[in-house]
Amino acid sequence: MSQRTKIKALLQSQQTEIDVTVKGWVRAFRSNRFIALNDGSTNNNIQIVVDFENTDPALLKRITVGAALSVEGKLIASLGKGQTVEVVATEIEILGDSDPEKYPIQPKKHSLEFLREHAHLRFRTSTFGAIFRVRNSLAFAVHQFFQERGFVYLHTPIITASDAEGAGETFHVTNFDLDNIPKTDTGEIDFKEDFFGRPTNLTVSGQLEGELGAMALSDIYTFGPTFRAENSNTTRHLAEFWMIEPEVAFNDLVDNMDLAEDMLKYVIKYALDKNADDIEFLTQRLTEEEKTKPQNERSEMTLLEKLQFCLNNDFERLTYTEAIDILKESTPNKKKKFVYPIEGWGTDLQSEHERYLVEKHFKKPVILTDYPKEIKAFYMRQNDDGTTVRAMDILFPGIGEIVGGSQREERLDKLEQRMNEMGIPTEELWWYLDTRRFGSCPHAGFGLGFERLVLFVTGMGNIRDVIPFPRFPKNAEF
Ligand code: ATP
Ligand code: MN
Repeated sequence: MSQRTKIKALLQSQQTEIDVTVKGWVRAFRSNRFIALNDGSTNNNIQIVVDFENTDPALLKRITVGAALSVEGKLIASLGKGQTVEVVATEIEILGDSDPEKYPIQPKKHSLEFLREHAHLRFRTSTFGAIFRVRNSLAFAVHQFFQERGFVYLHTPIITASDAEGAGETFHVTNFDLDNIPKTDTGEIDFKEDFFGRPTNLTVSGQLEGELGAMALSDIYTFGPTFRAENSNTTRHLAEFWMIEPEVAFNDLVDNMDLAEDMLKYVIKYALDKNADDIEFLTQRLTEEEKTKPQNERSEMTLLEKLQFCLNNDFERLTYTEAIDILKESTPNKKKKFVYPIEGWGTDLQSEHERYLVEKHFKKPVILTDYPKEIKAFYMRQNDDGTTVRAMDILFPGIGEIVGGSQREERLDKLEQRMNEMGIPTEELWWYLDTRRFGSCPHAGFGLGFERLVLFVTGMGNIRDVIPFPRFPKNAEF
């Protein structure tokens, strides 16, 4: 018996008339003769030709959709259309049967909602195979990008006692017996009795700890899970998502924008090169889906064109103030088409505004800078105008915000003053403030939501479809 060869390698094989062993799951079986077998190494199936006249009928019956097979046979140039090679089986072994009556993934189109309810099996569809291979490449490319540039991958903690954004959307971490929570004399929860002796939560961002690393290692990045108990049932939010957060000493906001733009282009290019087949498949999928929409809502570009367009154009850079002027004068604002009309300076942009700027006005990715300090976090560097901070958000077509970042406030007095104004306890963050006490320096960083990047590159419409097992309100099944 020859060693197992993956289907991707077989389909690219220059040699034919060789003995091969192939293993995988049955995607389809037609005419008792042709098996479409897939092992996840590629979206393409290999065709197995069964000599049904000389095969035990009992075995033939067990070749059903979803069954796992090991096949020995000869790789030959294919006579049929649609494939260059196929395997003429000499020996078929059923590794695992699948009951065709009960197997949920049939060789037909299933809705994404249905597949989400069968997330444990949806990897076996062409769409999800493609998505998770692309996701894998993007993750690898992120590391490669930073490693090539001498960044240190820093593992920041998942359990923390700080809520970095002060947003209060955290999941508590405790090992209290929830039926018997220790209370103080005054009836409050006695966190001194808890595992860490204080209230703790799952991290919402690795940034604050990342900054500590950058203040010695110069260039660091984190890439880890992040948790937000936000009750937003949107197609852009998960309760558990992965975030990439570089933090770089001596960088200012322009360096920060350059780094983010370079990185996004690098990883998208990597996926385009590495996963050409998958992206072609996803492009076709999206084009089919677009056909179901009314003409005026259809995208002008295919997925592949969108990705190439993103690589070949500079991102548009402008300030929040300039963006507000554009939005105020925009047709949808004047015609009262926005759900949240733009009335004046100072309010946060909604995703409808972000998408107008990107998709209708500039028709390319946009970086907005210098937001009002009231709508941004305490650690962003204050501008001399007293009203704005050195923030940057990167907005992508179909997504809205994909990156949020800033140059950080490196001046201790300004930072403390802002924390006091915003009611953020300076004593609790003594360790963070120490970086400003001992050798502070200009620095900048950002957070890229990994799933939003995967959404963009795969052309999927819902963030729940680009992470293997999505966590969202009322859902943690698998
Ligand atoms: P949004 O306004 O879209 O909720 P945010 O301002 O809360 O985003 P940041 O705190 O700046 O986002 O986080 C950095 C990045 O993390 C965002 O640009 C986005 O890509 C991603 N992100 C934020 N919240 C989520 C979430 N709940 N699920 C998935 N990705 C997220
Ligand atoms: Mn948010």
